[in-house]
Amino acid sequence: MILFKHFKDLLKLLSKYRKEGRTVGFVPTMGALHEGHLSLLAACKKSADISLCSIFVNPTQFNQAADLDKYPRTLPQDIDLLEQAGCDILFLPAEDEIYPPLFEKRQYDLGELETLWEGKHRPGHFQGVSMVLDILLSRIQPNWLFMGLKDYQQCRVVEKLLRLINSTAALLPSPTLRERDGLALSSRNLRLSPEQRQMAPEMYKTLQQAEESIRHKPPAEVVQNAIQRLEKKGFRVEYFAAVHPETMQELSEMNPGDEAVIVVAAYLGDIRLIDNLIIGGIQEDEEREGSKKT
Ligand code: AMP
Repeated sequence: MILFKHFKDLLKLLSKYRKEGRTVGFVPTMGALHEGHLSLLAACKKSADISLCSIFVNPTQFNQAADLDKYPRTLPQDIDLLEQAGCDILFLPAEDEIYPPLFEKRQYDLGELETLWEGKHRPGHFQGVSMVLDILLSRIQPNWLFMGLKDYQQCRVVEKLLRLINSTAALLPSPTLRERDGLALSSRNLRLSPEQRQMAPEMYKTLQQAEESIRHKPPAEVVQNAIQRLEKKGFRVEYFAAVHPETMQELSEMNPGDEAVIVVAAYLGDIRLIDNLIIGGIQEDEEREGSKKT
């Protein structure tokens, strides 16, 4: 694995690869890597000739400074994991490589995606995500971009961003990888106390129960029951909703065959967890296949 800290050196090598006709797949991360990230790398290696991962804890996407400070940083271990998984290139930019002193903030018209769910509860978050990806993608110009459906709304935002910035990269979303007990893998899981870790799988169980009952009950009732169940189990729910897979608008009714996504964000103590379950469409099957088998 070749490690770069500066665009200049990275782009020189990428330009050589491109002249040789080799394709590049890009997996952007914030580090504290786990098997979920590695599944994106595996997908990348399948599709692209060259796999490129980045690790950059992007300050502009944190709407709370404390969250940025507490974000886990495990670089030596991350490097080992990527090396073992056969990553070709690791890009590790410092903050001023991405945001030089005279950098001018950019704004993106993300429409309603910015005011719903994650957008509403994390003001500025998707602008920060868009900004860092705009900077990375416009320089790296990968053929494919690999991101996880664990961050469902982020995938929708990125699809929109790619159109806004006329990127030639195509987004290939990967299914959510889970622990055996259903908890979606996340860097934040490292911060759960043993007691919270035991409680955490309830989030996915509640999503599964909601999926089951939404087939014969109105979404509003299902959502209300799910929130009550999670609160009883010790979560502080920020949102729980059944939404349209593209617009992410809340659904007031569901008919047989309709596609939907159930999205949730809830706190255990001061740790914010998010998850989702895709109903109908191909992703649901992929999600099941992508899960670790018990
Ligand atoms: P992060 O480092 O948290 O910004 O995540 C980097 C990428 O990994 C994002 O595209 C996430 O959606 C993806 N990711 C995070 N957790 C998982 C997971 N459990 N399964 C699959 N992809 C994931």
